[in-house]
Amino acid sequence: MKLKCSLCGTPYEFVYKKEETLPTHFPFCSNRCKAIDLGKWLNEEYRISTPLPDAEELTDIQRQVLDELKEKSEKSY
Ligand SMILES: [Zn+2]
Repeated sequence: MKLKCSLCGTPYEFVYKKEETLPTHFPFCSNRCKAIDLGKWLNEEYRISTPLPDAEELTDIQRQVLDELKEKSEKSY
């Protein structure tokens, strides 16, 4: 069957035979295209997994910690 590389769009012939492993670069036309796509995906994943801290949540935690510290210092006097 004819497939199109999902990265560069180059059409290529793909023959699937039963009990035969898929080519390492599948579904791309070459290992180069696979590597580029994987690199893109990893970059996106990296951006998603490192979100900016929620400013409101941080201040709430900071307030909580400050309140706790206040209580402790008042008790120690
Ligand atoms: Zn390609």
